[in-house]
Amino acid sequence: MNDKKIELGLRFDNSYANELEGFYVACLGAKAPSPVLIKLNETLSQHIGLNTTSVEDLAKLFSGSESPIGASPLAQAYAGHQFGGFNPQLGDGRALLLGEVLDGSGERVDIQLKGSGRTPFSRGGDGKAVLGAVLREYILSEAMYALNIPTTRALAVVTTGESIYRKQYLPGAVLTRVASSHLRIGTFQFFSSRGEQGKVKQLADYAIARHYPELKDSKQIYLDFFCAVRDKQAELVAKWLLVGFIHGVMNTDNMTISGETIDYGPCAFMDNYGADTVFSSIDRNSRYSYANQPIMAQWNLARLAETLLPLLHDDEDEAMALATGSVTDFWDIFQHHWVVGMRAKLGLSTEDEGDFALGEQLLASMSEEEVDFTNLFRCLIRDLESDTTESAKLFNHAEKYLLWRKSWIARLAKDKLSLSERITMMKAANPLYIPRNHQVEYAIEAAEQRADYQPFEELITVLANPYTVQVGAEKYSEQAPSSFGVYTTFCGT
Ligand code: AMP
Ligand code: MG
Repeated sequence: MNDKKIELGLRFDNSYANELEGFYVACLGAKAPSPVLIKLNETLSQHIGLNTTSVEDLAKLFSGSESPIGASPLAQAYAGHQFGGFNPQLGDGRALLLGEVLDGSGERVDIQLKGSGRTPFSRGGDGKAVLGAVLREYILSEAMYALNIPTTRALAVVTTGESIYRKQYLPGAVLTRVASSHLRIGTFQFFSSRGEQGKVKQLADYAIARHYPELKDSKQIYLDFFCAVRDKQAELVAKWLLVGFIHGVMNTDNMTISGETIDYGPCAFMDNYGADTVFSSIDRNSRYSYANQPIMAQWNLARLAETLLPLLHDDEDEAMALATGSVTDFWDIFQHHWVVGMRAKLGLSTEDEGDFALGEQLLASMSEEEVDFTNLFRCLIRDLESDTTESAKLFNHAEKYLLWRKSWIARLAKDKLSLSERITMMKAANPLYIPRNHQVEYAIEAAEQRADYQPFEELITVLANPYTVQVGAEKYSEQAPSSFGVYTTFCGT
């Protein structure tokens, strides 16, 4: 970065830099040879108060080449369990926190660059990102936002003019990400694993003030803090499952304290339902498969609880008992959120103790079949609207499904909603458009190989309103052609 500072009108207030010395290393972005602004998220930029400046300035800024007035760029330290193995030192190896901004609602958000060059945490990496991966994160994270799932957001995409080597030369790019913070379970682990318990406490106090201020007068504040994070994560993972999202790399460094989805590396939405679906090429043991996600979230939360043990109680056994009980409770909380969401998907406004099983039985009827998860739920709606059973045609063997359907129809009869109320409810809970893998790949390929951003623009426009029928957007709700083949995703973006 050079000395020129760009005025953006953003209200920077860098609490991480100011309050947490020793938790980061101040550093600067690499100079991009010829930065070009490919995409600015207009609504988000307005929301955070970004004053329009020249496109050239935005390109320099969002490549990391220059810095906005008020920023205090830094790389955060963190550790993490990666696929079960502990790495005591990860950290922002290719990301730079520019600082925090108070947005239009007075909320504090991080503005972070991803792919802006090496930092002291880069280890052997180049600190860079490639255009395909950056567009992927843009598409997926904004789609999640539109699906009402807590997530980091995408503010801008800049190409740097560099070619980055990833088995082949690919265009370099930087994503600007907005998040309510980048505190991770791994941030706690970084200090806990070094025996720096004072810093764990300092971090917990900071996290409470920033994300859970309502706990400030609690008598058992650190236990309540843990439970608050647990509850957010339980709800988050339930929401993932209900839209068929597979994160793919739920390492503890990729799990936030705020409860937002973070790190859109190898994630993908499943088309055909399968509890054991995995897309990531490196997840060889299916650790982060679709149905394993709540189990892994609970496992990760147990790692967070371990870092907090000395803060939970002076007596070690008592601390352990409190932590164990709270981690165990994750399962009930997750199931609660899942059944609440499943009821909405199935058009149920009341509670019945059989609802959890009803939802599970539907999934069981889909397994071993080749049924599109998203489209089946929309077909349930159409069947209700037109009093048909077209949904059965989605199955190769519909017997199990038709049995399930009988129980569902019987359950609906006990639920007092009118047909039109039920249909409205179901339409709001079952997306028509998700980022389908073949469409995501097509958009990336067009951009990477032909600098054609039209498919990307069209895709993000459709995904911004996932519950509303959009004329001319039929292809975005269709399954991949069989020629698309088995889909595999990659990390190391
Ligand atoms: P992720 O797979 O994005 O969760 O990253 C795991 C760790 O690897 C983090 O510490 C990243 O900063 C680091 N990392 C990933 N890619 C790169 C890269 N190209 N250069 C430097 N560090 C990287
Ligand atoms: Mg990560």
